[in-house]
Amino acid sequence: MSRPSRARIDLDALRRNYAVARHMHGQKVLAVLKANAYGHGARECAQALAGTADGFAVAFLDEALELRESGIALPILLLEGVFDAAELRTAARHALWCVVHHEPQLRMFEAADDLEAPVNVWLKMDSGMGRAGFAPGAVAAGFARLTVCRSVGEVVLMSHFARADEPGVPATGAQIACFDRACAGLEAPASLANSAGIMAWGPAHRGWGRAGIMLYGVDPLPATHRQGRLRPVMTLESEVFAERLLEPHAALGYGGGFVAQRRMRVGLVAVGYADGYPRAAPAGTPVTVHGKPSRIIGRVSMDMLTIDLTDLPEAGVGSRVELWGASIDVNQVAAGAGTIAYELLCNVKRVPRVYA
Ligand SMILES: *Cc1c(COP(=O)(O)O)cnc(C)c1O
Repeated sequence: MSRPSRARIDLDALRRNYAVARHMHGQKVLAVLKANAYGHGARECAQALAGTADGFAVAFLDEALELRESGIALPILLLEGVFDAAELRTAARHALWCVVHHEPQLRMFEAADDLEAPVNVWLKMDSGMGRAGFAPGAVAAGFARLTVCRSVGEVVLMSHFARADEPGVPATGAQIACFDRACAGLEAPASLANSAGIMAWGPAHRGWGRAGIMLYGVDPLPATHRQGRLRPVMTLESEVFAERLLEPHAALGYGGGFVAQRRMRVGLVAVGYADGYPRAAPAGTPVTVHGKPSRIIGRVSMDMLTIDLTDLPEAGVGSRVELWGASIDVNQVAAGAGTIAYELLCNVKRVPRVYA
């Protein structure tokens, strides 16, 4: 038998989560498929959503070309835009939409006189994140320049939130107000909301939403605000492939940091940090084995990890182990490991993805 580890991807759950995003936002929603669809497989996810999505977003050109090569004809937005004039020509040839977030990109459009077709532009403003985007005072002038550019088709005005996943914090309201002031009088559709904006900030619902993490069934809000409407898309699972006994006072695994207080039964599971399971996950991180709650003990190694079977007499070699998915919230694993679910999902590798 081959190594029994896999990431099962539930494309029906993906479609339902997209419908939830669309319903909550009330207007059009781009499905964000960057970083190989947050580790879920961009081609497969795009094909699953091709009948219903309003369009897709990826980070950069190569990610979009992969989708075009697999037959995806819907709009695809490049969230980082293009990096040079040659990329702009390619984007035009493939009918890709481009974010323009700084002056050099705006000049590329002004200098382009040989595009096969005008390119739709999403003009990005920095409304308070302090990262990419035109300053509020520069948006109207940038908009005016784009609208007279022959290489530019339609223009959408956009901004991105820094703290939409913190419901009580005023920063997001301030970003919305800043955006509205800077864009007053400009005739164009707008796009503000990522997943947390869609789920927690009604005033951020504009012509276009941009849903990423929620499509994959991960609620970006704090545990106290989660509504349970999303269905996890990825289940990272394996099986117990060996078991052993640990005598009292015996140490387990690298570093010897875990020491048995009593006689313990340990299951070896064929998933490690080289598969994307976080090495930082401490002893006590939840898993299910044979459908029952258990926990990791000892340190996560490159190719395997160890779980506690002591109180699960019916579990043993061949028992199914879920690392995250329907039973184990990936948010909880991420929190224990000091990171976020986004990073864990993007990091999944080496295990086969199995689609259903
Ligand atoms: C990644 C990204 C999104 C999606 O964010 P989620 O929090 O995953 O919904 C939206 N907008 C931009 C600009 C992004 O880079």
